[in-house]
Amino acid sequence: MASSTLVWLRNDLRIADNPALAAALKNEEPIHAVYVLETDRALRPLGGAAKVWLHESLKALNDALAERGVRLSYREGQSKTVIPEMIREMKAERVYWNRRYDPAGRAHDASLKKGLKADGIAVESFNAALLVEPWDIATKQGTPYGVFTPFWKALRDKLIADPIGRAERHSEIKPPALDFGKPPFWANGILERWAVGEEAAKRVLSGFLDDLLADYPNDRDLPRKRATSEMSPHLRFGEIGPRQIWFAVRHLIASNPSMANAGDKFLSELAWREFSYHLLYHRGDIARHSMQERFDEIEWRSDAKALHAWQKGQTGIPIVDAGMRQLWRTGWMHNRVRMLTASLLTKNLLTDWRKGEQWFWDTLVDADPANNPASWQWVAGSGADAAPYFRIFNPITQGEKFDSRGDYVREWVPELRNLPDKWVHKPWMADVETLDKAELKLGITYPIPIVDLSTSRERALETLKR
Ligand code: FAD
Repeated sequence: MASSTLVWLRNDLRIADNPALAAALKNEEPIHAVYVLETDRALRPLGGAAKVWLHESLKALNDALAERGVRLSYREGQSKTVIPEMIREMKAERVYWNRRYDPAGRAHDASLKKGLKADGIAVESFNAALLVEPWDIATKQGTPYGVFTPFWKALRDKLIADPIGRAERHSEIKPPALDFGKPPFWANGILERWAVGEEAAKRVLSGFLDDLLADYPNDRDLPRKRATSEMSPHLRFGEIGPRQIWFAVRHLIASNPSMANAGDKFLSELAWREFSYHLLYHRGDIARHSMQERFDEIEWRSDAKALHAWQKGQTGIPIVDAGMRQLWRTGWMHNRVRMLTASLLTKNLLTDWRKGEQWFWDTLVDADPANNPASWQWVAGSGADAAPYFRIFNPITQGEKFDSRGDYVREWVPELRNLPDKWVHKPWMADVETLDKAELKLGITYPIPIVDLSTSRERALETLKR
């Protein structure tokens, strides 16, 4: 058998702008691609919702790869065993992959690379996931960034590489069978809600740029409105890369300068993702350790009942419950509501941010190794460029501001649908007559708040100050 190239796919499930795949296709050799669901103990296992997305995404990619003569395998196990096994089976002389940035993953890849090279295998790694890799951007003093705004300014001045085109080869094969078993019963809400895969990602992006970008700066905080790009799960699995998005927005601005402000705002949000990866790379295990170490001395409360009520959207605080139910049903939650739900858990309920981060990790389709812990730490106040600890969101006023007619709440918490707008964010304050008219029995059809917002706020301030 002639020699061949192995492409180890990870968070780069696309054909376009995929440098590892493009490099493999340049050689006139057979190519095999593999995805390994890694079980190495040092690596964080994927959460449930992300796994549902992964399987759908691999199905889509399998067809696209087969059209280019590339056979995809799906394996579960330790990649340090699976990759060398595949190399032997295929008589591969080359292995290509796109880089990852979490400390455990990097250490793992470095050690694997060393071993393979010692065995005479050519190994190359590439950047598919970031606009600028963490070691290519630093402050004037040469140190990593710890604050977002200067990071964003520096990023804007960087020459961002253009995306590379779709990797092509004309040698179609029949797509091999990938056997993931049946999705779990709770996956239906996710599968109904989302179109998964590279083609879907492209469609969603162009729809967003055509129809929603102009109003993005004004509307992005309104949870009921479809106003943001919803690119996060596509980015998470690399069905689209940030360079492609950057390039598309720049292109749009060049042809339509009136979109400059909106385009810039959107790219600055994409830059938060880059910043999270910068932190992940430079600060180590941010899913386990508070970036500000003193936060690891806090005596968090341990109230299993309250945590459960929060997870299930049964706290009695309408906008929080709406968000948690949206998450459970669809695997996604609006950014504003992510902040409110995280603030209630870490501040009012004084629960360790890691417990919330882990729940999001299990239930988000976009559960991201950098964005999730960095955002949780931002809300908790323990992060690099965090909101100060004394900022505690008030879910009533936030609800009234960003969901003023209560449409978002009514969509996800139908128990409250008959309440007048005035009470929909604070049903416990309504009088008996109003509740009766709305057929709402507090404590029976919908919970009484599990925590008093104002005393718990004081408690959080006291504790955090200490
Ligand atoms: P858009 O507003 O259209 O933004 C475009 C892209 O920019 C997003 O897809 C995302 O990649 C990036 N982005 C936007 N806002 C942020 C932000 N605040 N921080 C970092 N990147 C951002 N995002 C994830 O991708 N994965 C997570 O696991 C995740 N966990 C979060 C947990 C908490 C507690 C909070 C407060 C935020 C979290 N975010 C996470 C960030 C943000 O909520 C989502 O990226 C955003 O809601 C995704 O929707 P969108 O694609 O429509 O965003």
